[in-house]
Amino acid sequence: ANPVFAQLPTTIFTVMSALAVEHGAVNLGQGFPDKDGPNSILAAAARALTEESNQYPPMRGRQDLRRALAAHAMRFYGLSYDADTEIVVTSGATEALTAAILAFAPQGGEVVLIDPSYDSYSPIAEAAGARVKTLSLAPPDWRLTEEALRSVITPSTSALLLNSPMNPIGKVFDDEELATLARVLSETNAIAILDEVYEHLVFDDRAHRSLASLPGMRERCVRIGSAGKMFSLTGWKVGWVMGPAPLIDVAAKAHQFLTFTTPPALQKGIAFALEHEMDFTLNLTRDLQDRRDLLAQGLARLGFKPLACEGTYFLTADIRGLIDESDAAFCQRLVREAGVAAIPLSAFFQSGKPDHLIRFAFCKQQSVLEEAVKRLERYF
Ligand code: PMP
Ligand code: GLN
Repeated sequence: ANPVFAQLPTTIFTVMSALAVEHGAVNLGQGFPDKDGPNSILAAAARALTEESNQYPPMRGRQDLRRALAAHAMRFYGLSYDADTEIVVTSGATEALTAAILAFAPQGGEVVLIDPSYDSYSPIAEAAGARVKTLSLAPPDWRLTEEALRSVITPSTSALLLNSPMNPIGKVFDDEELATLARVLSETNAIAILDEVYEHLVFDDRAHRSLASLPGMRERCVRIGSAGKMFSLTGWKVGWVMGPAPLIDVAAKAHQFLTFTTPPALQKGIAFALEHEMDFTLNLTRDLQDRRDLLAQGLARLGFKPLACEGTYFLTADIRGLIDESDAAFCQRLVREAGVAAIPLSAFFQSGKPDHLIRFAFCKQQSVLEEAVKRLERYF
């Protein structure tokens, strides 16, 4: 067996969701909304399912969806991508990430991750035979400095993965950090793989800025997105990767042997959504900001110390004011005894793990968040 996978535990999200079910806990662990996106999107997919072909769609994705994605990139970021040659539709951002890592992390090449990092990056890079180098950001402000970046990026770096807005800490890289990344990357041949699945979930009147939109960066960046996050349809697993044609050609070669394609009716639903339901997404951002505040206030009242959250579904809280226990032990106890599931932040670090921070998902209905706070109140 491949030792990378043979030694891996089951993902923390699966483990905590199973514990949440077993103990009847409110699940603020795994990040998925508890309310599906608009009915009109479901209806568009249902129509396609019954009225259109259910055979393989084009390998790079349906043209209507690729065109809608190109229009979206232009509308929100002023970025121009050719729908025919510069966009590939994938089965979720997970597949897009895998395809990009396989495409741009050659055996023995160096891949730079910024910890805390999403759990799929490192196993896939390692299984691809790349050497993973990690830069750990430090709480509470998680700032990326040029010095830290230069300590991991060298002229031989093959690829860097950047997740902004960032799961699990809700960080949005600011203009200065993006400029630093652009400056350091421009001295190398590295490809930047941009995980932008939370691109619309940025709060407090800020907006997402893609590294690809900085001068000189478009040619070395591939942008990855997810309809699951954009339209609260995480089970659909419709994602994409876009970038300059020479890079997308290679990512498409990986994609053709990973899944080849993605269910046509779901692609149709997302093409419809991008054209007709972007207001849903923009309103979702405002709703989520309110829910972030509700949860942060509830947790602060109880003695947790919530850290800043600028975007995503996730709020991180410091537990040291409450208890002297590791994040993992605390989350185990919380799900079993308090009836609330959360994720220990240590799960997102390769090394130098902090053990006093836990992640709560607030992409849940207000009543669910209130119930979680009530249960914690009763417990502490
Ligand atoms: N990247 C990040 C940062 C995520 O949080 C997630 C999942 N939730 C993904 C990628 C995977 O997205 P998808 O469900 O579209 O595969
Ligand atoms: N991205 C989701 C999270 O961070 C989980 C997705 C999964 O379970 N693979 O909670």
